[in-house]
Order: sequence, then structure tokens, then C-alpha cells
Amino acid sequence: MQTHQYDVVIVGAGGAGMRAALEASKDARTAVISKLYPTRSHTGAAQGGMAAALANVEDDNWEWHTFDTVKGGDYLVDQDAAEILAKEAIDSVLDLERMGLPFNRTPEGRIDQRRFGGHTREHGQAAVRRACYAADRTGHMILQTLYQNCVKQDVEFFNEFYVLDLLTDHDLTTEELDDDAEVNATGVVAYDLASGEIHVFQAKAIIFATGGAGKIFKTTSNAHTLTGDGMALAYRRGLPLEDMEFFQFHPTGLAGLGILLSEAARGEGGILRNADGERFMERYAPTIKDLAPRDIVARSMANEVREGRGAGPNKDYVLLDLTHLEPAHIDAKLPDITEFARTYLGIEPYTEPVPVYPTAHYAMGGVPTNVKGEVLRDSHNVVKGLYAAGEVACVSVHGSNRLGTNSLLDINVFGKRSGRSAAAYAKTVEQHLPIQENPTERVEAQLSEMRDRPDGERVAEVRKALQETMDANAQVFRTNESLQQAADDIRELQKRYRNVSVQDKGTLFNTDLLEAIELGFLLDIAEVTVLAALNRRESRGGHYREDFPDRDDTNYMLHTMAYRRPTSAPDAADGHVEGYFDHVEDFGDYKVVLGSKPVTQTRYEPMERKY
Ligand SMILES: Cc1cc2nc3c(=O)[nH]c(=O)nc-3n(C[C@H](O)[C@H](O)[C@H](O)COP(=O)(O)OP(=O)(O)OC[C@H]3O[C@@H](n4cnc5c(N)ncnc54)[C@H](O)[C@@H]3O)c2cc1C
Repeated sequence: MQTHQYDVVIVGAGGAGMRAALEASKDARTAVISKLYPTRSHTGAAQGGMAAALANVEDDNWEWHTFDTVKGGDYLVDQDAAEILAKEAIDSVLDLERMGLPFNRTPEGRIDQRRFGGHTREHGQAAVRRACYAADRTGHMILQTLYQNCVKQDVEFFNEFYVLDLLTDHDLTTEELDDDAEVNATGVVAYDLASGEIHVFQAKAIIFATGGAGKIFKTTSNAHTLTGDGMALAYRRGLPLEDMEFFQFHPTGLAGLGILLSEAARGEGGILRNADGERFMERYAPTIKDLAPRDIVARSMANEVREGRGAGPNKDYVLLDLTHLEPAHIDAKLPDITEFARTYLGIEPYTEPVPVYPTAHYAMGGVPTNVKGEVLRDSHNVVKGLYAAGEVACVSVHGSNRLGTNSLLDINVFGKRSGRSAAAYAKTVEQHLPIQENPTERVEAQLSEMRDRPDGERVAEVRKALQETMDANAQVFRTNESLQQAADDIRELQKRYRNVSVQDKGTLFNTDLLEAIELGFLLDIAEVTVLAALNRRESRGGHYREDFPDRDDTNYMLHTMAYRRPTSAPDAADGHVEGYFDHVEDFGDYKVVLGSKPVTQTRYEPMERKY
């Protein structure tokens, strides 16, 4: 075992982690730990753009952006956080530009902007050009720019190190704490892929920036590595997860594959058509049509297919039509994604429409934080020295449905904020807090159990079964019955997981072993997603219940807070459990307790959501 001491330790080297690192390392000794080489993080796969009301090409302002974000999230957004997101967007883009990011330009030399779903002028009057972009490689440019600047600033990286545990000075899973008790994060335990050695990082402040969990689904735009690690680690240590029932399905995955074709395709004029060639979004969202928010477009597409108007031999997808756009325009603005259609489907987008269907894309929920990035341990108390930013976190600016281009924005705005808060906090702590005895005990036990089991369940089979039940039962359309089926399947899979074994028994580059660990994270995240979805008997944003098709503000204008507790613990997770949310599911060794947290409303009253 090796030990390290830093002021600030950041887990994750995607956009959120590196933006935080740039900020924290100005004032504090900072290390970034990442299971991937930084430039392989999923941020680099982001295509379409980053929202900011620069008003470079047409009238716009941050208040319209705030409104769109709140309405887009079906009013479950914390409005104070959305205001910060929209206001600080402008400086975030300019920061990146100063760091050297090559944004596309207008003929006058300003940063160009394009349309994206749900971004409008004057509270929904028409689509507005708000997304700043670098062709369809915006995330790639952000990630490279941030990495280069981290190198320039001498940020220390521990690459291909997997963080497998979070250390705190109280065990929240078992201890009964007073409301005002102080809980501190003290460090993390990591596994070095190259050597198999365990490292302990002691830190005054820790930032989780581990990204999403899209691999709980089979059809997904997410990379293989998006297994919800940070969410699962916090949850296993007794911290809550917020709003996990809200998962975004992006309308335009390549049919049958899930590989993403950015919404930029529609922003640049692409049109969705059914088998009859009809522009069906005119029926569902008469004002902004194909540029309605993702939840609405994905549901409309799935509905066309259900009602028999799907295209293709099995009538199981719709078509994204770019054939009316000039080939030169496609080449300049959408070069990568049109190449995906050629490579993976053998379709020529200049002349043929592209088969598309919704694909799992983004976790709106995650580790709850306040606007400084501090992690909450219940509906109002924070864990000292623990921060989270990016897709792993829920601040909550996306509410029940995220607008396209608001995530690249979120990672920059809240990455920067959490980096700044963590460094400032670290400065106030004179000495590192002591870490617990045997800090690596849990991790070592877990690893050796899997490695030493001579044979048992295969990781790939359990993962496949999980992803299949999630696709079949917890996707765009959900019912009590389908979700109950998913919950039952997951319970069985959790049992099978306890008997999982790996074939590689070695210590060097044992990715087999780490995939087994990641499967455990996926199962926990899928479980809490499904239980929270069962419990929310209404439809809002990305969560659509066919058995409860309306939004129910009377009972459900609340964030869900899910906690994992020992079976013997009292049912109420904190003193703030309300109404329908007081619900317990017993999974044998532990139970999942669902509590709630109020939604922060500033200036926008909930309204019916029409586009
Ligand atoms: C194909 C695609 C296209 C997208 N396009 C857009 C777009 O155009 N606009 C937009 O706004 N959003 C877009 N998104 C969403 C957006 O890209 C992501 O939400 C965002 O980039 C997430 O950034 P992040 O820093 O939180 O996480 P990531 O970039 O995913 O980084 C996670 C980091 O955590 C590390 N990590 C994870 N687990 C561990 C562990 N256990 N130990 C150590 N390190 C760990 C990884 O190594 C990685 O460095 C897109 C997403 C996808 C999948």
C-alpha cells in the first residue's frame, strides 16, 4: 500500500474534473485521479455544443436561457442553480476561448452559435441560436483545451487509477447522527491498473467528477466506462442519490446501435420523418417542432413506432432527413456524425435519410450538491470536504430533463465552482484529518473475494441481463408492471453478482477484475433508478409513466433522495420524508429508503409545458 497527501484530490479527468483542477491548483496542492487517460474521458465524445447567451448572432440573454432550462426540466429544476448556470455561461465560454479553444466563427470573426432543442427566444416564441460549437467535435476541443492547460499549470495526474472507496470519519450507513453532527471526507482508496497496487490518498478536500452511468442500459450513447462509479461509491457510504429516476433518452441514436447523432443535425436543419415521409413533430410540438426538448421528441418517436408508422423492414425506427441540406454545409458543420452514418449503417446522408431511435444518454440525477459544489448528506446538511461536479452530480440544473448543450456548460460552470470551493476550504484546514484504521480493508476484501473464487457467474452475462431488462422495462415508456419486473430482475442479478468470478487472477492490467467491480456499481445504480421510478407515480420530463401520464405538482414537486441503509435501520432517512416518498424496499442485507428534498423556486411558477 502506498499513501499520498494532497490538499485537494479530484476523482475524474473529464471536463468537470479538469475544469475543477485548473481552479483548485491555483491555490492548493492538487492531484487528479482518473481510471482513464484524461483525453479518453467521455467529454471528448460530446458533439453538438455548449450553451451561452452570448447574443453573437441574434438577440438573446441569460434570463431567457434560465427560463428555457427551468421549463425544459419540467419545473423540477432548482431555479437558483439554473440562474447561476445561465449567467456564468458567458464567462465559461470566454474562459475556454482564452485558453485556446478553436470555436467556429461567424464571418465577422465572432464565436458562431447554432440552434438546439428547447433553447428559445422570449420564453418559447421561436428557436434561438445559443449553442457555441467547434464543428461536431465541441467536447473533444473542450477536453483537449482543458488538458493542455492542466499540463501547463503542472497539475499532477494519476492515470489509470480506479478509485474504489471513499473514506469518511463517520460511517453513515450505520451511525445515527444528530442533525448538526459534523461529517468529514478524509480520503479515497485507489487501485493502480498497471501494478494492481492499492494507494490511499489523504486529502483536505475531495471532488468527485466521475461522469455518468449510461451503461445501465443496453442501447446507449455512453462509453463502456460510464458505470456510475462515483454515484455508487457515495451511495454505498450512506450518502443519498438525488432524482435517479430521471434518465435522458436522446432522440437520435443510430437505429439498433445507439451511437449518437448529435441534435446539432436538427439544429442545422435536419428533419425527423416517419415511414410515410411525414414531419411528425409538427403534430407534437407545433411551434418549435424538431427542436422540442429531448424527452418530448424521444417519446414522440417511440409513439410513431408504436402506432405502426415506423420505417424499415420491422417498422422499428424513424428517419433523420438531411438530404435537403447542401453537402458543403453538412461537411462544414456535421462532419463526424455523418461519417458515423456511413461507417456504421452504410447510409449516405447527402442522399438518404438516416435510421434513428432513442438511446440512453444522460443521468439527470446523481450525488446531491449545493451551488458551491458541496455534497449533501441529507436534504440540507453537507459533508465537509466533499464536493461533486459534472454528470455524477445533481445540483440540480437539469431537473427532470436536460436541454442539449447544457451539460458541457454544467461541467464548466460547476467544475470551476467546486474547484474554487474545495481549494478555499482546504486552506482553512490546518492539518489533514486522521484516516480510519485499515483504510483499504473493504477494497482488499472485495478484490480478493472476486479473484479467489475459482469459478462462478460470468460478468458479461450478468451485465447483459441487467442492460436488457433496463431497455425492456425502464426506457422511454414505463409502467408499474414494467418497473416491478425490472426491480425483480435486478434483485435476482444482485444475488448472482455475489457469486461472480473473474478469469484473470493476475495483478498486472487486470481489466477483467475491474469490469467485475464496475458491474457492481451498475447494479446498484440501476436498482436505485428503478425503485425511484416505481415510487414516482406521475410523468415529468424524462420519466414517463403510462399508468400516471400527467404531471402531479401537488404530490411530486419534490426531489427524490434515495439512501441505502442496513435492514435494521429506521425507515425514515432524515427528518424530511414526505408523502408518497416515504417508501422502503428491502433487498436482503440492506434496504433502499426514499426521502425527499424541496425544489427551489425563485421567479418561475410551474406552467403546463407546451412547445
Ligand atoms: C456521445 C455524447 C455526446 C454528447 N454531446 C453533448 C453536447 O454536444 N453538449 C453537451 O452539453 N453535452 C453532451 N453530452 C453530455 C456531456 O458530454 C457529458 O455529460 C459530460 O461531458 C460529462 O462530463 P464529466 O466531466 O462529468 O464526465 P466524463 O467526461 O465522463 O469524465 C469522467 C471521468 O471520471 C473518471 N472516472 C470514472 N470513474 C472513476 C473511478 N472509479 N476512478 C477514477 N476515475 C474515474 C474517468 O476516467 C473520466 O476521466 C454528450 C454525451 C455523449 C455520451
